[in-house]
Amino acid sequence: KGAGGGASTCTTCPYCGVGCGVIATPDFTAPTPRVEIAGDTDHPANFGRLCVKGMALGETVSTEGRLLHPQVYGQKAGWSQTLDLVASRFAKTIEKHGPDSVALYVSGQLLSEDYYVANKLMKGFVGSANIDTNSRLCMASSVAGHKRAFGTDTVPGTYEDLEEADLVVLTGSNLAWCHPVLYQRIAAAKAARPTMRVVNIDPRRTATCDLSDLHLPLAPGSDVALFNGLLAAIAKSGAVDDSFVETHVNGFDAALAAAQAVDLSVCDLDAGDIATFFDWFCSTEKTVTVYSQGVNQSSAGADKVNAILNCHLATGRIGRAGMGPFSVTGQPNAMGGREVGGLANMLACHLDLENANHRDAVQGFWNAPVMADKAGLKAVDMFEAVGSGKIKAIWIICTNPVVSMPDADAVKAALEGCDFVVVSDMYATTDTARLAHVVLPATGWGEKDGTVTNSERRISRQRAFLPSAGESRHDWDILSDVARRMGFSGFEYERPVDIFREYAALSGLAAHLGRDFDISGLKDITDAEYEALQPVQWPVSTVKTGGRFFGQGGFFTEDGRARMLPVTHRPPQGKRARKYPMWLNTGRVRDHWHTMTRTALSARLGGHLAEPFLEIHPVDAKALGLKPASLADVTSPRGTATLRVLVTDRLRQGEVFAPMHWTGETAPTGRIDALVAPIVDPVSGQPESKATPVRVSPH
Ligand code: SF4
Repeated sequence: KGAGGGASTCTTCPYCGVGCGVIATPDFTAPTPRVEIAGDTDHPANFGRLCVKGMALGETVSTEGRLLHPQVYGQKAGWSQTLDLVASRFAKTIEKHGPDSVALYVSGQLLSEDYYVANKLMKGFVGSANIDTNSRLCMASSVAGHKRAFGTDTVPGTYEDLEEADLVVLTGSNLAWCHPVLYQRIAAAKAARPTMRVVNIDPRRTATCDLSDLHLPLAPGSDVALFNGLLAAIAKSGAVDDSFVETHVNGFDAALAAAQAVDLSVCDLDAGDIATFFDWFCSTEKTVTVYSQGVNQSSAGADKVNAILNCHLATGRIGRAGMGPFSVTGQPNAMGGREVGGLANMLACHLDLENANHRDAVQGFWNAPVMADKAGLKAVDMFEAVGSGKIKAIWIICTNPVVSMPDADAVKAALEGCDFVVVSDMYATTDTARLAHVVLPATGWGEKDGTVTNSERRISRQRAFLPSAGESRHDWDILSDVARRMGFSGFEYERPVDIFREYAALSGLAAHLGRDFDISGLKDITDAEYEALQPVQWPVSTVKTGGRFFGQGGFFTEDGRARMLPVTHRPPQGKRARKYPMWLNTGRVRDHWHTMTRTALSARLGGHLAEPFLEIHPVDAKALGLKPASLADVTSPRGTATLRVLVTDRLRQGEVFAPMHWTGETAPTGRIDALVAPIVDPVSGQPESKATPVRVSPH
C-alpha cells in the first residue's frame, strides 16, 4: 500500500507499443486522486524502466474536464435511453439501407476485450466488415507484408533479439522518441558490448542517431530501392543461406532479379555509406532490422516491408536468437487489435475473411446469424463513404480522426454531414466528439480491466486501480449492451475475463485451421488466474501445429514455405512541382501522444515542446526569408497550417517536418493532417503520411 492508503497495482502503460509494465499506487486522501507511478521491475518489456510519458501518467488521471454522463444532441441523458437510441438508429439504418450503411471506427488503444466485442458485433451480427481502426494509419503495411511473406501476420522477433544482435538496423523509426524504453534497452546493450553496431536509415537525423554508427539520410520513399540493393549485395557477397532458402522459401529467383535491376541513385545517398551498410549486413549473422511508421506510412508501404523481409529470408536470419525483421507497433494494443480481427480485412485470431472455411468456423463458433463475406472499408475509404452518404451511421470509439486522419478537413466535413455520429470517449471536447450526435462516457486508463499485446507478442494485463469517473462505462460493456438492445444474443458478458476466455477458445479453433495466433492454453483460465496473469508471449497452445512456429521448421502458408516477393521502387505518389516544391514529413515528438487528449494534461510533458513547429533546413529557411522562431505557413492543395519555425540542419534540403499531435484555431495551428492527401498503399490501405508536396512561406 502507498502512503495514501491505495494498494499498488501492476498494469501497463497506455501509450506506445513497447508495452511497459507500470506499478500504480493511488492516493485517495488527496482531494482529487493522485497516483504514484513506478516502472515494474518484473515486467519483461521494461524491467523497471519508464520514459517520461510513462513517468507522467499520474499527472493525467484527474477527472477534471471528463465526460461524466451520456450526451444526446448536447444534452445530458440517461444510459438506457441513450443506448436505446443508438441501437434503434443503427438497426433502422441497417434495415433500410443494408449492413454496409453503418460502420465502427475504433482504436489501437482499446483493450483486446473491447476490440473483440466490437469486431464480433460488426462482422458476425451486423454482417458487415465496416470496422476499421486507427491502427490502419500505423502498421497496416506491416500486416500486409507479413501476410504476403509468412502467410500470417506474425512478428517473428522479441526484444531480447535486439539486445543479442551484433547489428541493429533501424529504418523509418525514431525509436529514441517513439519507443524510448526499447531505445534504452538497445543503448544499454551497446554500452555493455561496444562491438554491437547500429545503422539508422531515416531522411532526418533524429535523436535516435545518437546511438548510430552509421546514418543513411535516404530520399523519402526510396526504401525499396535501398533494400533491393542490399538483397543484390547479399547474393553477390555469398551471404545467401542456400540451405534455408531451399528448404523454407519460395520466390527467391524472382525477388533477386527484381532487386538486381535496382537504381540506387534514387536513394540520394553517399555511395561509400551504402557500401558500408551492405558490407555490415552481409557479414553480420546476428542482425535485426527494426522498422516502424517511416516504412509503413507510404503508398509503397507493403512493398517496403517485403523488401526488408526478403533480405532476412535470403540470409535465413529469422526466428533465431539475435536475428529477424521486427515491426515495432506505434500503439499499446495495435497487436491485440490485429489478433482479435479489428481491421476491416481480417477475422478474429488471424483467420482470413476471404476464406470460406475460416468464415464458417467463426460463424459457427459465434452462433452468428450473418457473416461478413468481404472486406469492409478501410479507414480512408470509410470516411470517404461517410462523406458521400453511403455510410449513414458511424460509431467512433477511443480515437480522434478529425485530427489524425489524412485530409482531416474532409473527415470533419463528412462527419458534419453524417446522419448519425456516435462517439465513445473520456472527453466530449475532442475535435471529433464535438461533432457527435451522441457522446458516450467511456472509462479510461486506470479505470478499466483487460489485456493488451505489445510489439513482441507479449500479452499483459491492464488493471483498474481507480473508480470509474462519473457514469462512465467500459467499452466492451457499452458495445455488448447495444448489441443486446439490437436483439443479438452472444453478448451476455459480465466481466472482461468472460470475453478473454471466449477468444482464447476461438484461437484454438484457428490453430486447428493452421493459424499462428494461438492462446488456447488460456481458454479455461479461472477468474483468479486472469486477475494474476503474468505477461506472456503467444503462442500459449494446447493445439499441435506440427511444430510450425518460426525457426522450428515452417511458415503459415499452404505449403509451409515463406515467400520472397519481387518488389520495385515506386516513388511517393504526390508530385513535387513549382507550386508545391518541398516534401512535408509528419511524425511524433518525445513527450506527446496522438492528439494529446491525455498528455496535454501534464505540464511537465507540455514543457518539452510547447507548441507545434516546422523543422526546416537553414539553406531553405534563408531562401524563403524565414527567421528562427518566426511563423511560417505550410500549404498543400488541401489546406494551410501556421507553425513556429525551427531551423535545423537535421533534415535534408527541400524537406520539412511537422509533428502530428496538435490542433487549434489560432496561430500556431498544428492540425497538420489536414494537409496530407488521402493517398494510400493499394495493398495495405495505409495512408502516405511521410511525403506530402507543400510550399512554405513567411506567415
Ligand atoms: Fe509507455 Fe512506451 Fe514510454 Fe514504455 S516506452 S513508458 S510503453 S510510452
